[in-house]
Amino acid sequence: MADVLIIGAGGVGQVVTHKCAQVPEVFSRIVLASRTEEKCKRIAAQIDRPTGPIETAQVDAENVPQLVELIERVKPDLVINVALPYQDLPIMDACLETGVDYLDTANYEPKDEAKFSYSWQWDYHQRFADAGLMALLGSGFDPGVTNVFTAHALKHHFSSIEELDIIDCNAGDHGQPFATNFNPEINIREVTAKGRYFEDGQWVETEPLSVSREFDFPEGIGPRKIYLMYHEELESLARHIPGIKRARFWMTFSDNYLKHLEVLQNVGMTRIDPVRFQGVDIVPLQFLKALLPDPGSLGPLTKGKTCIGCVITGTRRAGSKADGRSSGKGGGGGNGEEPSRYYVYNICDHEAAYREVQSQAISYTTGVPAMIGAMMMLTGAWRGAGVFNMEQFDPDPFMAALNRHGLPWTETFF
Ligand code: NDP
Repeated sequence: MADVLIIGAGGVGQVVTHKCAQVPEVFSRIVLASRTEEKCKRIAAQIDRPTGPIETAQVDAENVPQLVELIERVKPDLVINVALPYQDLPIMDACLETGVDYLDTANYEPKDEAKFSYSWQWDYHQRFADAGLMALLGSGFDPGVTNVFTAHALKHHFSSIEELDIIDCNAGDHGQPFATNFNPEINIREVTAKGRYFEDGQWVETEPLSVSREFDFPEGIGPRKIYLMYHEELESLARHIPGIKRARFWMTFSDNYLKHLEVLQNVGMTRIDPVRFQGVDIVPLQFLKALLPDPGSLGPLTKGKTCIGCVITGTRRAGSKADGRSSGKGGGGGNGEEPSRYYVYNICDHEAAYREVQSQAISYTTGVPAMIGAMMMLTGAWRGAGVFNMEQFDPDPFMAALNRHGLPWTETFF
């Protein structure tokens, strides 16, 4: 039984709050805090919980003294950070000052530079270790589940992993001319950045969205164009998966999304540096965010599915068996050490997610793993002193929890 403080009342915060409320045997008390307390109250009002209402609070998560005051008042066992990547470091500072464990779903990013890296948060490792505290980084879907999928493949199916392709497909349609499925500012910064992948011990850079191919997605989704991008889990997986030769990340985009993005870029609307306009400084991308649909408003409109997973090649362990959920040839077990290609994925339905927690599948696939990561920490299934990425822990309890809490997975050799 534990008390949690969730910071950030956006799309992901809503799902984490709902999912924690569904597991009262672990999360006995839930406090939701954010910059705009009204949004916390709106989420709290959606949840009828026999063990007591969701409490709410206001906080500026870039202000460490405010955070410390809040944490000292709430006295949580864990802080779940689902605000924005800009707030990771102040929240980690406040956790260190108050002696509380920490979890997030996205790595730190400075506001004035479209660059993300684990290095800033890995630098906290010794301080967390010395304080006997644990910080779990990137407990969303990608990063998050994709890291656990890779650890699962290495533990159960491969004696060595050579190539990893993480493939993220949103085959949903919200019917809007242009909208992003999560925070528009973070999303557009990520998509317009240069591509980057890991090969033979080096990082290779590509022009934004310049490398693409077709991938045939399972369960009725069919062939879609996927684009190579840089994504944060590549940095930690390249460090933690021994001997990996190549790691890449791919995402689907519709032609319509790319057409709008190109125009917005060409006219300067995706710039992140301030522009003087009528006597005030405005950041074009932040102004664009104010014009675009709130991702939360897409929930009731979005139909279709997401499919996120890992294609892995390497040397299959003798006798490796895919579990009962597997499909495809070779699912039953390898005969000996042999080169093999494997796919593990989750399919999530936007409308089913909305029926359950009033959010579309992008927020759902992030919020469920955040709750599961918290559960791993609070039940002691995953413990350690320091700063950790998801692939550093035993994947088995997490993979089992995915099946129980709404994100079942399928694995296949092909
Ligand atoms: P939203 O923009 O919907 O929500 C962010 C929330 O954080 C808002 O409620 C916002 O408050 C709050 N916030 C922003 N700044 C502050 C601040 N200074 N102090 C307190 N609260 C603040 O984003 P999402 O819910 O879509 O995303 C949340 C996180 O999840 C992001 O870090 C995102 O990168 C990550 N993510 C991770 C994924 C994964 O698979 N790992 C996938 C998708 C997202 P306000 O309402 O006042 O603006």
